[in-house]
Amino acid sequence: LVVLGIETSCDDTAAAVVRSNGEILSQVISSQADLLVKYGGVAPKMAEEAHSQVIDQVVQDALDKAHLTEKDLSAVAVTIGPGLSLCLRVGVQKARRVAGAFDLPIVGIHHMEAHALVARLVERDLQFPFMALLISGGHNLLILARDVGQYIQLGTTIDDAIGEAYDKIAKWLGLDMRRSGGPAIEELAREGNAESVSFSVPMKHHKDCNFSYAGLKTQVRLAIESRKIDAKILISSASNEDRASRADIAASFQRVAVLHLEERCERAIEWALKMEPSIKYLVVSGGVASNQYVRSRLDMVVKKNGLQLICPPPSLCTDNGVMVAWTGIEHFRMGRYDPPPPPQEPEEFVYDVRPRWPLGEEYAEGRSEAP
Ligand code: ATP
Ligand code: FE
Repeated sequence: LVVLGIETSCDDTAAAVVRSNGEILSQVISSQADLLVKYGGVAPKMAEEAHSQVIDQVVQDALDKAHLTEKDLSAVAVTIGPGLSLCLRVGVQKARRVAGAFDLPIVGIHHMEAHALVARLVERDLQFPFMALLISGGHNLLILARDVGQYIQLGTTIDDAIGEAYDKIAKWLGLDMRRSGGPAIEELAREGNAESVSFSVPMKHHKDCNFSYAGLKTQVRLAIESRKIDAKILISSASNEDRASRADIAASFQRVAVLHLEERCERAIEWALKMEPSIKYLVVSGGVASNQYVRSRLDMVVKKNGLQLICPPPSLCTDNGVMVAWTGIEHFRMGRYDPPPPPQEPEEFVYDVRPRWPLGEEYAEGRSEAP
């Protein structure tokens, strides 16, 4: 099988061609970094336009780099949710055009499932059941993966995701926003003292596996204000003393943000092993999983609990087309796909996108207890 994967759920337009033996034939990403700086975040209408402008070229480049044409494909996989519906539609429309013109089946993909399953492309020994911690800009999920399409949600965020906290704090610290906030904080944190500001770990008294980052974000904002850090003065123009102060905050935030992940993972492993004693792996994926500090801390927790950590390389942790193509292969193999669409879609056709789409069922005992 050779599958084309298309991803447009947020601000990156991505496409890739992957073979069912795990070979990545091509991988193309066009990111909207310039727009992000200009508007200080993802504006759906702008993002939709940016996707529309580049989608044809991105898909063409992916085919060219793979030295293939549409005729060589077995199917087209496309992210249909969760994400911004305007943006998702651009990808779905493109996928249906290609599939309609070349009589190819279509596989609709869950973006977070793709973040998790790409680990099986990277690590061919990774069998079900396994656990996954998915940490990105919009999600914080702890899941037990029983099979392709079969997940139990052990924990999720009750407010913000960790990536969103990294991005906001980077902005407040005056970091260079031409790339996302995560890598900028990770780098600055290396210069700082992680013990210098004492932030409290979220949800200490909730004996569950859920996450919360809104309170920590507020604690950090207050610390920034009390140190009179001015976000309008970019870090590159800050005095040495000012820079050191920002680095201390970055390091202290990162330490506590990750401690929260560690605590939740530890409990989730306990829960998951009760249900599936044969589990051997915890997968960590999503944009924040490209962070080296996050990886090394979670590696310790996982080993301490007798499991092994699997982290895809950073380029497969952040949004990409490979994970979509690969997840398409996983579903296609199980006979889960839609028949080819008609060559010409009727004007009034409504694209099936799912902006909000939970991944699997909630673990019954996983609800918050009162403090
Ligand atoms: P979602 O997957 O929830 O829909 P998304 O698709 O926008 O969100 P991803 O590309 O999966 O997000 O991840 C982007 C997030 O990862 C951003 O918040 C970014 O700051 C964060 N991130 C990327 N690299 C790092 C890093 N090295 N350290 C911390 N965070 C990082
Ligand atoms: Fe993502």
